[in-house]
Amino acid sequence: MSLDKLQMFIDGEWVDAHTGATFNSHNPATGEVWCHLPEADAQDVDDAVQAAQRAFEGSAWSGLTATARGKLLYRLGELIAEHADELACLESRDNGKLMRETRGQVSYLPEFFYYNAGLADKVVGETLPLDKPGMFGATVRVPLGVVAAIIPWNSPLYLTAIKLAPALAAGNTIVIKPSEHASASLIALMRLVKQAGFPPGVVNLVTGFGATGSALTAHPLVRKIAFTGGANAARHVVRNSAANFAKLSLELGGKSPNILFEDADLDSAINGVVAGIFAASGQSCVAGSRLLVQRGIYDEVIKRLCERAQSIQIGDPNDAATEMGPMATQAQLESVERMVAQAQADGARLVHGGKRADIEQGWYYCPTILACDSHDLPIMQEEVFGPVVAVIPFADEAEALHLANDTDYGLAAGIWTQDIGRAHRLTRDVRAGILWVNTYRAVSAMAPIGGFGASGYGRESGIDSVRDYTDLKTMWINLSTQPMPDPFIMR
Ligand code: NDP
Repeated sequence: MSLDKLQMFIDGEWVDAHTGATFNSHNPATGEVWCHLPEADAQDVDDAVQAAQRAFEGSAWSGLTATARGKLLYRLGELIAEHADELACLESRDNGKLMRETRGQVSYLPEFFYYNAGLADKVVGETLPLDKPGMFGATVRVPLGVVAAIIPWNSPLYLTAIKLAPALAAGNTIVIKPSEHASASLIALMRLVKQAGFPPGVVNLVTGFGATGSALTAHPLVRKIAFTGGANAARHVVRNSAANFAKLSLELGGKSPNILFEDADLDSAINGVVAGIFAASGQSCVAGSRLLVQRGIYDEVIKRLCERAQSIQIGDPNDAATEMGPMATQAQLESVERMVAQAQADGARLVHGGKRADIEQGWYYCPTILACDSHDLPIMQEEVFGPVVAVIPFADEAEALHLANDTDYGLAAGIWTQDIGRAHRLTRDVRAGILWVNTYRAVSAMAPIGGFGASGYGRESGIDSVRDYTDLKTMWINLSTQPMPDPFIMR
C-alpha cells in the first residue's frame, strides 16, 4: 500500500478530512514519524454515519439475502488471507508489535470472517409455545442499524475483525474509528472491503483523536457502540450512549491472575506466565499481570522466571529472533516507568528489570518482575499495560481464590494444576470472563471474550456475538375466528 497519502473511507470513496487537517503516526521501533493521517471532525463523522445509514436503508445491502451477505464476508476473509503479509507489516510498523506475532494474528484473521459468514443465514428467531390458546407467537431477529466500532492500538486488525464480521453478518452497517496511534492496517483493510464488493457506505472508516471517537459515539443515528480500550474513554462513551440509547459492548482492561499450584507442570506454567505478561510487551487486555504462586514453589518460580526474563531478546520487531518489541507510544513507556517507580516506593521489591532497555532509538522497556507482600499494593490492583508482573505467594486453594477475586477487574485468569477437581472448582469460582487451565492467551473465532466488573460487559466472538448485533421483535398473531373479546382487560 502506498503511504504517500492515507485517506479515510466514507461511502465507498477515499477522502481527506473536509478541513484538510492531518496528524502524524510514529513507528515505535524508531520513534520516527512514518505516515500522515486525516483528522476527522464532527462533520466528517456525520458524513460517515449518514453514509452508513443510507446504506442500511438502501436495497443494495438490505435487499441482499443473509446467504449473500455471508458470501461477501467469506470473500473478504479470502482477500485478507491473500494480503496477510502486507497487513501484518503495516500493523507491526504502526504499533511496534513483533512481526512474528502480528503475522500469526493476521494469518488467523480470515477465520473470524469465515465463521461469521457461516452464521449470517443462521441468525434465527423462535416460535413461542404461548399459554394463550388461539394465538401464534414468534420472535424475529433484525439488524440494529449503524454500528460504531472504537478500536485501540494494541491489536487493531484482530479487535476490528471481532466487531466487523458479526456486525455485517447480522446485516448492520458500520463506522470504524481506529486509534490515532495505529490506523494504517485498518485503512489497508478498507481497500479489501472495497475489493470484496460490499456496497458503498456499508463499511466506513474515520481517523482522528478521542474527539473523533466522541463525535461518533454521540451521533444520534448510532444504534450500537462496540468499544475496546481503557476505562476513562469507556466512561465517556457510556455517557454518550445516554444521548442515543445505543446498545453497548465494552472490552476494557484487566489485572488477570496467573495462578500456579505446587502440582503444576512447571515448564509449561513458566511458559504460560511469559506468554501472559511478556508477549506483546504486556500490552494486552488479557495480560497475566498478577502472578499468584503457591508457597512451596515460590522461590523456584521466581528463579526460573528471572532466568527466562534475562534471556528475552528485546529489539527490532521485524527481526525473527526478537521476543519483545517496544511500547506502542512514548506516553505508554513513561506511564510504565512511573508505575514501577511508585510500586517500589510502596514497598514492592524489584526482582528483575525495572528500567528502559539499552537500545538507542525507540520506546523499549525491560521485562520486569516485582515481588509483593501485600495484595493491597496499587501494583497488584492497577493495570500497567506493559511487561510488568507483580508476584505474591499463597498458602492454599482458598487463599488463591480469595486473591484471584480481590480485584475490580474480571477479564481472564490462568490456572496451573494437574488436579481436575481443583481446575473445575476454580473455573467455576474465579470471577473472570475467560478461564484458561494449563494454557494462556488462546483465542478462537468460536470462543467468546469479555469480562466482569471494571473489565466491561458484553461478549465478542462466538455465536452469541452475532445476536448482540440484532434486536428482537415479538410477533403475536390471533388465529381465532371469533371477534376479539373485552377490550378493557389485559389478556
Ligand atoms: P483509550 O481508551 O484512550 O483508547 C481506546 C480507543 O478509544 C482509541 O481509539 C481512542 O482514540 C478512543 N477514544 C479515546 N477517547 C475517546 C472518547 N472520549 N470517545 C470515544 N473514543 C475515544 O486507550 P489508550 O490508548 O489511552 O490506553 C489507555 C489504557 O487503556 C491503557 O493503558 C490500557 O490500560 C487500556 N487499554 C486497553 C486495551 C484493551 O485491549 N482492552 C487496549 C488499549 C488500551 P485515540 O487513540 O485516537 O485517542
